[in-house]
Amino acid sequence: MPARASDAAEAAFARLQVSDEFADRLRTAHRELTVQLPFVGDDGRMRVVTGFRVQHSNVRGPFKGGLRFHPTVDLDDVRRLAELMTWKTALVDLPFGGAKGGVSVDPRSLSARERELVARRYIEAIGPAIGPRTDIPAPDMGTDATTMAHLLDAYSRIHGYEPRIVTGKPVELGGSLGRTVATGRGAIVALETVLDHVGRTRPSQGGDVTIAVQGFGNVGQHAALEAHVRGYRVVAISDVSGGWHDAEGLDIPVIEAAMVGGAELVGLDVPGATPIAAIEPLYVDADVVLPAALGRVIDAANVDRVIAPIILEGANEPLTEDACTVLESRGVTVIPDILANAGGVIVSFFEWVQGANMLAWDEAEVLARLDARIAAATRQVLRQAGEGGSLREAAMDLAVRRVVRAMELRGNA
Ligand code: NAD
Repeated sequence: MPARASDAAEAAFARLQVSDEFADRLRTAHRELTVQLPFVGDDGRMRVVTGFRVQHSNVRGPFKGGLRFHPTVDLDDVRRLAELMTWKTALVDLPFGGAKGGVSVDPRSLSARERELVARRYIEAIGPAIGPRTDIPAPDMGTDATTMAHLLDAYSRIHGYEPRIVTGKPVELGGSLGRTVATGRGAIVALETVLDHVGRTRPSQGGDVTIAVQGFGNVGQHAALEAHVRGYRVVAISDVSGGWHDAEGLDIPVIEAAMVGGAELVGLDVPGATPIAAIEPLYVDADVVLPAALGRVIDAANVDRVIAPIILEGANEPLTEDACTVLESRGVTVIPDILANAGGVIVSFFEWVQGANMLAWDEAEVLARLDARIAAATRQVLRQAGEGGSLREAAMDLAVRRVVRAMELRGNA
C-alpha cells in the first residue's frame, strides 16, 4: 500500500497542490525505532517492555516530541503523533521538527524505581539517534519532570552533562518556569482569542462561559485551574477513575489541593457535585468541551451526544476525522490540537533557548511570551479560515505550507 500521511495532512496537500516530490517525503517518517527495554522488577524478575521513537521531519529544526508511557501505545500511534508534532511546531513557528516516543507499559503498574529503570533503558536504546540538536524528548501522558530528569541523567552519563537533551525537566535541573502550566494555559489563551473573534464576552470582562474538561492530568488540571481563575464556570471534570458535575461550577483549586499523593477524582469529597463517568464531560451542557485525556474519544459512534458549540482539543487527536467533519457541519467550532495544545512545546522551546544561553527567565516573562505566541498563532488561523471556515483546515494549511517552504529552500541535492 502506498504511504499516506494523516487524512488532515493529505487533504492539505491536495488543497495546497503540494507536489508528490514533497508530499512523499512527509508521508513517511525520517526514522522509526522499535526497541526492547529489559529491566529487573521489584519482585526480582526480568520484565521486557517495548519502546518506540519515530522521527517524522527535521526540515525546520531538530526533531521534537513527547515520550508517552501507556499500555495501548503502538508504532502506529507514535507514527501519527510524530507527524502531528511536525505540523504543531510549524504552526506556532518554532525552529523544531516533529517526533514522538512511547513505551507500551501502564505506568500505574510500576513502582517509582521501575519507572526510572524503564526511562533509563529507553535512553540507552535510542541514545544514538537523539541529541540536543538532533532530537529532544519531553513529557507526555504517563511521564513527567521526574522522568525527564532520569532521561537527562542517563544521556549525560554517556555524553557529558547535557540539559538540552530534554525539555520539561525539573526547574532545579534547568527546566523552565511556566512549563508545567504551559499546555493548559495555552489552551485557554487560544480559546479566549477565539471567543473574542466570535464576539463572545470573556468571563474576565463579565461574560458567563461554561467549560467541561475530560482528563485531569497535566493538561486538564492546569486548563481547568486557569479557566477557573479567569472566571469560567468549570461544570464537569473527570479522570480515568470517573468525575464530577456541578452546573454552578466546581471549586477547582479546592479539588486540586485535595489531589495529593496520586489521588484520583472518585475518591474525593466534592460537596454539591454529582458523580459522573469518565466519558461524561464530553456530553454535558457546556459552552466549551475540552478533551484532555486520550485520543479518539469522540468518534462516529458518540459524536451525536456532543452538544457543546466549541470543542477545544487539549489532547492530541481527541476527535476522529469523521467526528470532526460531523461537528463542523453542525457549525461547531473545533479549535484544533496543533494550536490548542501547542503551549507545551512553545515553552519547551523557551526552555531549550534558556539552556543554550545558560540563563533563566522569570515566570512572568515565560508566560507573557507564551500568551503572545499562542494568541498570534490563533489570530493567524482565524484569518486564514476566513468567515465560518474550518480552523482545523486553516491550521493545517499554514503548517504544511511552512514545512514545504523549508524543504524548497533547503534543496534536494
Ligand atoms: P497525564 O498523564 O498528565 O494526564 C492524563 C489524564 O487523563 C489523567 O487525569 C488520567 O486519569 C486521564 N484519563 C486517562 N484515561 C481517561 C479516560 N478514559 N477518561 C477520562 N480521563 C482519562 O497526560 P497529559 O500530559 O495531561 O496529556 C493529556 C493529553 O494531552 C494527551 O493526549 C497528550 O498527548 C496531550 N498533550 C500533552 C501535552 C503536555 O504538555 N503534557 C502537550 C500537548 C499535548
